[in-house]
Amino acid sequence: MIVVTLSVIEGTVRRIEYREPREGWASVHCETASDGMVECMTCHERFSSEAQFYDHRDGNACPGNPIGVSVNCNNGVSGWLS
Ligand SMILES: [Zn+2]
Repeated sequence: MIVVTLSVIEGTVRRIEYREPREGWASVHCETASDGMVECMTCHERFSSEAQFYDHRDGNACPGNPIGVSVNCNNGVSGWLS
């Protein structure tokens, strides 16, 4: 006989962690989506114009590549999801 117990643990996201692109900040580029929004292909933030994207990149506002999520579970355990 096989017994399987499944449970759901709820928690709260503390923060999203980011890392600088391996190729450097100059490699950060954008693409225009079908809805006309301009998306940063590194952090995936969306803008209404390319000018806003360049302000984001060149103003050091891009946080980098998302690499994981830090969470506090309701059972008292803190963790990291990548
Ligand atoms: Zn970005």
